[in-house]
This record gives sequence, C-alpha cells and structure tokens, in this order.
Amino acid sequence: MSEFVDLETQDGVRMTWNTFPGTKQEALSCVIPVAAMYTPLKPIPDTPVLPYSPLRCRICRSILNPFSVVDYVAKIWVCPFCFQRNHFPQHYMSISEENLPAELFPQYTTIEYASSPDTGPKMPSVFLFVVDTCLIEEEIMFLKSALSQAIELLPENSLVGLITFGTYVQVHELGFGHMPKSYVFKGSKEITKEQLLEQMCFFAGRPRPNVGVIAGPRDGLSPESIARFLLPASECEFVLNSVLEELPRDPWPVPADQRASRCTSTALSIAASLLGLCVPGSGARIMAFVGGPSTQGSGSIVSKNLSEPIRSHKDLDKGAAALYNKAVKFYEALSKQLVHQGHVLDLFACALDQVGVAELKVAVERTGGIVVLAESFGHSVFKDSLRRIFQSTDYDLGLAFNNFALHKIISVNITPDFFLVSLLEHFHSGVFEVNCSKDVKVQGIIGPCASLEKVG
Ligand SMILES: [Zn+2]
Repeated sequence: MSEFVDLETQDGVRMTWNTFPGTKQEALSCVIPVAAMYTPLKPIPDTPVLPYSPLRCRICRSILNPFSVVDYVAKIWVCPFCFQRNHFPQHYMSISEENLPAELFPQYTTIEYASSPDTGPKMPSVFLFVVDTCLIEEEIMFLKSALSQAIELLPENSLVGLITFGTYVQVHELGFGHMPKSYVFKGSKEITKEQLLEQMCFFAGRPRPNVGVIAGPRDGLSPESIARFLLPASECEFVLNSVLEELPRDPWPVPADQRASRCTSTALSIAASLLGLCVPGSGARIMAFVGGPSTQGSGSIVSKNLSEPIRSHKDLDKGAAALYNKAVKFYEALSKQLVHQGHVLDLFACALDQVGVAELKVAVERTGGIVVLAESFGHSVFKDSLRRIFQSTDYDLGLAFNNFALHKIISVNITPDFFLVSLLEHFHSGVFEVNCSKDVKVQGIIGPCASLEKVG
C-alpha cells in the first residue's frame, strides 16, 4: 500500500486498484471500474522544471517519457503508445545512456516544462467584474467596499474591466479618464459578439477586416480599442474606484408588487463576448456579484410578478419550474463559449433570496470557477472569500490561469505499458490531454471540466 501512497505523492494520481487489468477477461470481470483521480495542481516535491518545450511524438502527439524505448546510436525514440519511431531533434544530439535528459529519468514520471516559444506572447491575467446594482442601499455599500479592497490586492499588471447591470447592462469604459463613460445595452435583449463589435466602436476610424474571425489584437482589433475596457490595475485604480464610489442603485422604479428587473444572463453574456473579442485564450475570469434572482433575459428564473413564487426544490424535482430548462440551456451555451475562449466564470451570490445558482452552476462548473454563497455582501463568508482569492500567492493567486507566461506542461505516466496522461496545462481552465495505448479506452471524465470535442 505504501508504494501507492508514494506514487500518489509523486504523480498526484490515485486509482481504484492502482493497477490495470492485464487481459480483456480481467477487464470484464472488474466489478468496480478502473478509474484514476488526478490532481493537476498538486505540488510535487523535487520535480524539475525543464526550460524547454516537450518533445512530442509525430503521430499521436504524446510526450517523450521514461517508458519510451530509446536507440542512442541511431538517435531515435519509439513512442510507447503508437510505436512510431521518432528522430531526436538537433538539440538532443548529445544524448547517450550516460547523458539523459531529465524527462527520461525513470523517477520523473511527472515532469514540468516551462514556457515554450510557440505558445505566443506573455499575457497578463484579466479580471472582469460584473456587478449587480439591483440591491438595497446597504448591500451596495458592502459590495463597494469589498470590491475596492479587492482592487487594491490585484496584481499590478493584471487587466481589469467593469460591467454593471440591473434593468440595463453598462459596460464601463475605464480608459476614458475625463468623465465616466459607458456603453448601455438593453437587459431583455440578447447581444451577439458581432453586434458588440459594431456597437462598441471597435473599428472607429478604421476599416473593419471583412474576412475571418475577429478576436484579440492578433486578429484585427487595435490594442487601443481593447484598452478602453480592460486596463492594467495600476493604471485604472483611480477611475475604477471613482466609478464604484458613484455607482447608483438601478435607477428604474420597481412597483410594490414586482421584483427588480435584473438581467444577470444578458450581463454575463456580454461579459463573455467582450472577453472573447478582447483577450481570447488568455487567463481571464468573469467575477459576477449577484444579489437576487434574474428576472430578465434568457437566463431568468422567475417573472417580475411577485405573485408568482420562485421555483422550489420540489418544482425542480418534478420538472415543474417553468423557466428552468430555458435558463439551463442558455448557461450551457455560455459555458461552451467560455470553455472555447479559455475563460472562467466565478459567482459571488449574496442574498437572502434565491439567485438561481441551480440554473447558472453549469457555467461555473465547466469553466472551473468558484461559487461563494452568503446571505449578504457584508457577511464575512463573502468578504473573507474574496480577499483570500486575491491574497494567496501560489500560481498567481492560487488559481490556475490560462497564462502563457506560466505555460506549464506536466506529463504524468500511470503504469508503464498502458497509460499516460499528458497534461498540457494552459493554466487556469487548463487544457487536459489524455493519451493512452490502443487497449485503453477513455470512458469519460468527472470534474469541473468540459470536453474540447477532439476525437482521439
Ligand atoms: Zn505516438
């Protein structure tokens, strides 16, 4: 048993029986299925970080590892998965039995590779705050003070943006320092990425490229047009604080028999599209601060009419929650968009009332986000959780970021002849690749993740 514990410390992998069935017969007689639990960010003692990119098999893209058969004379390695013979590149020419690169040491079944040149420029992490304004005055005050504390704790080079919502969605232009300026969108109407591009003047004074996907500075957007909404924390602290300070409650009157008109889903969709346009593929998080049920837009969970009660557990069980399916469908689509962009959704839901986490959670789970539930933005559960996120120092705030500067590839081998997991950790949501030999079929994965729909 102790050897398995050692293996877990070394690779962060725990399996049902810590062994694979050797034959088809054995596999069929397994009552408990073979499974592996893997902890991607487990700190592993004495793991070297190699300052170069991993060597991949030409055919199956697996990574060179201690189970590869190496011909030192011919400078060839045989991939243990597809048996493809691969030539070593020039910089491996000095390889010999006495002079092994670290990834071939038998004890390094888990190994890290640091930043590789083909992964693009260094991108800072991005925080987009999405803030509910349909709150009572007291709650707004609590939230403002928590947010301004969080802003102080942001890493200086990280980019920050702000969206507020209520009846309307407001995207604040923090780069315009002279006076508060924002783009306003109707909460009941869905806005596509294309419409955002048009309406937020991303091509002001310049012709719009008429072919291809427009996303990020590499594909058509000028850095200046992006810097209007996402600014380095060190540059926009003042503007951000003054916008927050003046932030009013949603100004639209709410009749006594109605709920506030809160368009959570529209705001989140705009946030996702904005990040998709400005910083695709970089380590960005949408941090949503929500203080009540969504009553407007595709993700609404209840009508505005107070005479209609919010769905209960019983309604959800019986499938009697009228708006549930539509809302879940909306958030499933949103999670797909976020996964595709490599972005995360965090939810801070603080209210005595329900906010609709049941509907929204799919988008948080699949993107590897965080949910914090508390009864008030003044409650220590919320305040301390928010502070903790920004205070930890490991791995950039303790969160994994899709950050190319920290590009990390870990390759892990579980049992020599059958299975290897190579984890290409694009940080934050992380891209997780599993390679296995042809006798092993991956049944699925459980956890906060979504399939990239690549067939292997
Ligand atoms: Zn291969």
